[in-house]
Amino acid sequence: MHHMTLAEIARGLADKMFSSEELTKVLLARIIQLDPQINSFISLTEELALKQAKAADARRANGESGALLGAPIAHKDLFCTRGIRTSSASKMLDNFKAPYDATVVAKLAAAGTVTLGKTNMDEFAMGSASDSSWYGAVKNPWNLEHVPGGSSGGSAAAVAARLLPAATATDTGGSIRQPAAFTNLTGLKPTYGRVSRWGIIAYASSLDQAGAVARTAEDCAILLQDMAGFDPNDSTSIDEPVPDYSAGLNGSLQGLRIGVPKEYFGAGLDPRIAELIHDSVKELEKLGAVIKQISLPNMQHAIPAYYVIAPAEASSNLSRFDGVRFGYRCEEPKNLTDLYKRSRGEGFGSEVQRRIMVGAYALSAGYYDAYYLKAQKIRRLIKNDFMAAFNEVDIILGPTTPNPAWKIGDKSSDPVAAYLEDVYTITANLAGLPGLSMPAGFVDGLPVGVQLLAPYFQEGRLLNVAHQYQLNTDWHTRTPTGF
Ligand code: GLN
Repeated sequence: MHHMTLAEIARGLADKMFSSEELTKVLLARIIQLDPQINSFISLTEELALKQAKAADARRANGESGALLGAPIAHKDLFCTRGIRTSSASKMLDNFKAPYDATVVAKLAAAGTVTLGKTNMDEFAMGSASDSSWYGAVKNPWNLEHVPGGSSGGSAAAVAARLLPAATATDTGGSIRQPAAFTNLTGLKPTYGRVSRWGIIAYASSLDQAGAVARTAEDCAILLQDMAGFDPNDSTSIDEPVPDYSAGLNGSLQGLRIGVPKEYFGAGLDPRIAELIHDSVKELEKLGAVIKQISLPNMQHAIPAYYVIAPAEASSNLSRFDGVRFGYRCEEPKNLTDLYKRSRGEGFGSEVQRRIMVGAYALSAGYYDAYYLKAQKIRRLIKNDFMAAFNEVDIILGPTTPNPAWKIGDKSSDPVAAYLEDVYTITANLAGLPGLSMPAGFVDGLPVGVQLLAPYFQEGRLLNVAHQYQLNTDWHTRTPTGF
């Protein structure tokens, strides 16, 4: 039962092969048995899950249908869930029970999903290894000594280990696509504004976007259908009609123009990954796509620009955690300053503190023009590069990451080495574009992802290309041994 995709579960439930309650019990038992190996969950919500499963079964018995009615999922632990701990993997919020549901959580619940729990992640979504969590590092089911990627590493590891079919995630600089690549999953980061950010604990508000990790593009389409849409509670949510993503999966790729940026194949890229990316290009050519070399000349400036803008926004967003209103408060504060200092000093982990300091520095009066303003200018150049490229091509294709998943601990003492691994993913966030990573092969037994980028609101095109690729390849069907 645990090998089924969301699409297969929907068919099984519709054909009364099993009930949502039965499936939920099987998966909860599997999580309890196997999760200690990978640490992908922060909280299990068994009671809620069984209640939602029974309600979904009752709705089906009353003649209701729906692709997600009775489907078990989990939420990354930065989506607010009413009455349930929402920790953002931080000691700061270990005792925080959200008073309301995030829009994404509410929309998916209304569609009939069953919440099995809250998944582990990098603290406040800052990282690319899921090793900075207050609840301990997440492990990659493909090799337990390696990271699963981050920050949505718990969602990715859980789905890869077949503990559940799909999970929500967020992507500020790659946190959906990179863990999807490291664990052999399909991960979709929608256009900025496509999915509501209301009720998501903010990291960098102008970059954060919610999406999903699943095994197939078909499943990502099912999830996005109910996640997307205008939300008056989010001032950056865009009022744009939501197309039928599942109906668009079968479009022909005949004549589709795929751009491959020459800058993607520089010195930092593992040559074995380059080869797998070329194989995926050949596969898409067989399906009728036309390949064109393109250029994204400002790509080299993306990492420095991102690592100014993201920390700057984080330093502002995280100022709300002051020991007074939310979460952790230090013991016996001597006065108000001591309360602020010690609550924040004890509640935040070291990577979060580093980012707050970098961000506050970049925003300070004396350095604002030199760093923050400059970074915003680079951001515009990067967006302009994409706009020019999308005049010539329909999709941009390349590697999701320059290297496969590294060993746990390998980059812990050198944050810049980890930042450099984000080179292919962060440009989509800086420009606000949708992106998808899908399985493209293996290097030393570790999964490799190919990334597709599309113009604004063309999530349907990404899902269509990925689905056609997955109908003709079997990388995405591979399962890690032991799971
Ligand atoms: N690795 C990037 C960072 O640390 C991206 C994280 C994310 O997308 N949440 O900021």
